[in-house]
Amino acid sequence: MTWPPRCPYRISVASYVLGALPADERRELDTHLRTCQECRTELIGLAALPGLLARLRRRFRRATGLSG
Ligand SMILES: [Zn+2]
Repeated sequence: MTWPPRCPYRISVASYVLGALPADERRELDTHLRTCQECRTELIGLAALPGLLARLRRRFRRATGLSG
């Protein structure tokens, strides 16, 4: 991974993976991902993130007894 990113879209890829992008930006990035290797590489690197976060959340709940 190179930093700073060459492609300006790359900083949006993490939000895309986490489902945090507004619908119009998500559609724009969907289209962009078809043509940009840099963003596709970033996407593959971040693809496991939602699953990892869910596991952390479960572990946190067990450890603290808190929900959230
Ligand atoms: Zn890109």
